[in-house]
Order: sequence, then C-alpha cells, then structure tokens
Amino acid sequence: MSDKRLNTPSMVRRMAFPQSSSRAVVTPLQPSVVYASDTPDALDAQYLGGAQGYTYAREGHPNADVLARKIDQLEGVTPQMGAGFITSSGMAAISAAILGVCKAGDHVLGGDQLYGRSLRMLSQDLPDLGIETSLADPTDAAAFAAAIQPNTRLVLLEVMSNPTLRLSDISAITKACHARGVLVMIDNTFTTPRGYRAFDNGADIVIHSVTKLLAGHSDVTLGYTATRDPALRDAMVVKAVTWGFTPSPFDCWLAERGLYSFELRYDRAQENAAKLADALATHSAVEKVLYPARTDHPDHNRVSDMLGDQTGNMVSFVLRGGREQTNAFVGALEHIAFAPTLGDIGTTLSHPATSSHRALSAEARLALGMPEGFFRVSVGVEDVDMLISEFTAALDGV
Ligand SMILES: *Cc1c(COP(=O)(O)O)cnc(C)c1O
Repeated sequence: MSDKRLNTPSMVRRMAFPQSSSRAVVTPLQPSVVYASDTPDALDAQYLGGAQGYTYAREGHPNADVLARKIDQLEGVTPQMGAGFITSSGMAAISAAILGVCKAGDHVLGGDQLYGRSLRMLSQDLPDLGIETSLADPTDAAAFAAAIQPNTRLVLLEVMSNPTLRLSDISAITKACHARGVLVMIDNTFTTPRGYRAFDNGADIVIHSVTKLLAGHSDVTLGYTATRDPALRDAMVVKAVTWGFTPSPFDCWLAERGLYSFELRYDRAQENAAKLADALATHSAVEKVLYPARTDHPDHNRVSDMLGDQTGNMVSFVLRGGREQTNAFVGALEHIAFAPTLGDIGTTLSHPATSSHRALSAEARLALGMPEGFFRVSVGVEDVDMLISEFTAALDGV
C-alpha cells in the first residue's frame, strides 16, 4: 500500500457549500436530518426559544416551515392564531389534531360520509384508544347537534362529502358546537381555501390532505393542520413529533413548487368541471349529475352562501345500467386515469363501488345514493373540448 493512498483526505468529511454573492431564486432543499450547534449554550438558547434554529428533522425543518407559511396565507391564519404545521399525510394531519385535543373518555362526533380512512379512524382506531366516537348526518344540522354528547370534545366535518358532493351545514353546526364548548375541525381538502374559508366561518381547526389539490401533481403525500388556539397547536405538534408524523423535506419542497400554480390550476379545473357536468347531463346514458353549481344539486340552497361561485373541480354522475356498462365505459376511456385519487392536474375517475366504498354492501351504497353506475370525476386542467369529447365517446359506446 502506498503512502499516497494513506494520505488521501477522508471522504466522510463534509465540505462547506460553495458561496455565491448572487442568490438562488428558488427555495433551497434542505434534507439534513441534524443541525450542528456551536456550543451547548447555543443549543440551550434554541431549545429555550431565545434563538431560532433547527435541531433534528423529526422536530421540524425549513422546507416544512416554508410550505406551512404559504398554506397559512391561503387559509387566512393570522399571527395571533396557531401557525399551521406540515405532516407526512392528510391522515397524519387528522391524527395529530385528534391526539392533541382528545384523551381517553372524550367523544368525537364525525360526519357520516367522511373520507374512508377518517371513517375507519373514528369507527375502529379511536375506540381502541378509549376515545368514544359516533357519526351523524351533517347536512341536517338539527340531527347533528342532537348527537352532541356531554363528553363531546371535537366534531370532524368535511365541507363537501366524498363522493356524493353533499354540503355540510357548517354554520349551523358550528353555532351549536360553540354553544356547548365543542371544537369544530374542518377537513378542507375537497374545497380548498379557494372554495371555502373555514376559519372565517368559525372553524377551530383546519386540516388538509396537501396530497390532493394543493400539491396538485400526484407526486407527494402530505398533510397540513392549523388551529385558532396557539396552545392547542403546540399540543398537536408535540403529538406529531412524538408519533413521528413529520414530513420529508423533499416532499415539502415539491409541494411548495406545486402550490405556486394552485390558483391557476384550481380555476381552470373548476371551469372545466362546470362544463363537463353540463355536458354529461345532456347524455342519454347518464341518469344523474351532481355538481354544486347546478340547480338540481341537493344542497343548492347552501351553495352560494358557502362556496359563492367557487364550486370546485369535483363532479359525480350515475351511468345507467350495471357492471357491464361501467366496465364498457371505463374501458373505452383513453387518456383519463381510472384511479382513486383527486386533485391531480390530469382528470381522474373513481368508481366508489370497487374502491373507496367497496367495504359497504350494494344496499348500503344505494342508501347513500351510490348505485353501481356511480362515478366521481376529479376534473383536471386539460383542454375542455378534448375532455368532453373523450367522455362523450366513451358514453356513446355504452
Ligand atoms: C385523501 C384525503 C384524506 C387523506 O389524505 P392522505 O394525504 O391520503 O393521507 C383526508 N381527507 C380527504 C377529504 C381526502 O380526500
């Protein structure tokens, strides 16, 4: 072995990042898990809050904070409120919020048509922790308020239900909750802050699956939680850090990139959705179309109050016939992904009977307004004429 080789500088020593007197215009990606401090005093100062800094990525990192501040702006989170924080998924956002608020013996009341995993959390996982739960119909405020119990601590609502697109009567429910000291948590994933201003409408906690419209490209899984009360926010963050709900810096960086085009994507997808809904309604193979801007929507009386003209990108419809017709329709679609997600730049189609609602019997689905031919469309930003002609051609074939 030559001396020269022994003198090779160690490859495990890291080097200083090259200096530049000009600045990068893009938010840097910081994947570092650990942060080195100059002295124990300096580290102490950070933990005591006298100095701003990061220590360990599970407890927080700059890319998550940049993303959280941007979503705070969209959601109207003010400095007096609890700043939002990012979690590794929408489900982690809901979990952190519930764990931060509730303990064994408390009761959580949820809408009866929540996102499938939220329903599972309420019906199975929270009871395992000793947290009581029940469900009620949030389109009927009186019935929902009647389900509030003396130990109810938290109510979980979605603005628009999946996949039947029913609108919860949030203002009436929030009044009833606040009169009894119950916190209201809104899952604003479907409607986004562009469609519904949850804090302005009295919500105490707002959560998002950032995975969907906010990030918008089906390439990250992330969540967001914000609260009106800073102390409650701190309690939730402690749970998120302890239970390990922290997000990856790269995912946060990608989501921030997606967020810059969020408003453009949302407006375009919404415009497309309204046109597609009307086109579907004129087709003889379609039995029924659900879209909030249409006067035949079952909660049309609440639409202008709650959403204004921001009626979103989600359209549901019922195809006449059974499995033979649904297979023929999906098989004939060329560019539209048959995939159980939403909020992607491209239009995606989901069939609840074989995906999100497959655990229910056909009768139970029917009772919720979902026959075999029920489809949910997450409309994307494509050329709308192309979109309508693809749907029309596939429907013509049925
Ligand atoms: C997708 C979704 C969730 C869960 O989000 P993940 O990021 O998949 O964990 C929660 N609520 C709603 C309404 C959703 O659409």
